[in-house]
Amino acid sequence: MQIDFQKSSDGLVPAIIQDDKTSKVLMLGFMNQEALDKTMTDSKVTFFSRTKNRLWTKGETSGNFLIVKDLKVDCDQDTILIKATPVGPVCHTGADTCWDEVNVSNDFLSTLEGIIADRKNNPSEKSYTASLFAKGINKIAQKVGEEAVEVVIEAKDSNDDLFLNESADLLFHYLILLQAKGFQLSDVINVLKNRHK
Ligand code: AMP
Ligand code: ZN
Ligand code: ZN
Ligand code: ZN
Repeated sequence: MQIDFQKSSDGLVPAIIQDDKTSKVLMLGFMNQEALDKTMTDSKVTFFSRTKNRLWTKGETSGNFLIVKDLKVDCDQDTILIKATPVGPVCHTGADTCWDEVNVSNDFLSTLEGIIADRKNNPSEKSYTASLFAKGINKIAQKVGEEAVEVVIEAKDSNDDLFLNESADLLFHYLILLQAKGFQLSDVINVLKNRHK
């Protein structure tokens, strides 16, 4: 891959990071040759941080890595475009992108979603949620299907308690499925909002 690092006096070129699935622009960083080499070897985005003055693998402390899916150089070889899958929120503020407001909503569903994301990124043996992530998307999707059927069954019944409990099971497993697919509840809410326009 030919990149004109000498065009800027500091030997750094901008790297635009775009979400592979949603096409959202996630963040912008700078790379030198070493950062680019490491990015390609590890398939995880590594920048040269001007603030830290060293190579910086995005996610090195937060665990919110950017997994490289595609890498392109622009028309005159001085800017890199990387399509990547973010493991978690990209901005250090906790927002999905560096141009989004943080989701300050502290409703319980968001809290739960955060815990589920954490189980995915930092799996422990004891966690049921982590064990589901380990089994993969098909198994999780199947679980959502089962819980949905249980909701249907309990909806026909007259026992409110069972209906509410199965509803909770469904919502919980659905949040896990979204997370496993690399999405969040806010992505679905955005689809609903757009339909409403
Ligand atoms: P991380 O690389 O996600 O482990 O974050 C480590 C540090 O890098 C944070 O404490 C911030 O100082 C900085 N940082 C993380 N994400 C960003 C970002 N999207 N833009 C700028 N700085 C960031
Ligand atoms: Zn250019
Ligand atoms: Zn940011
Ligand atoms: Zn159930």
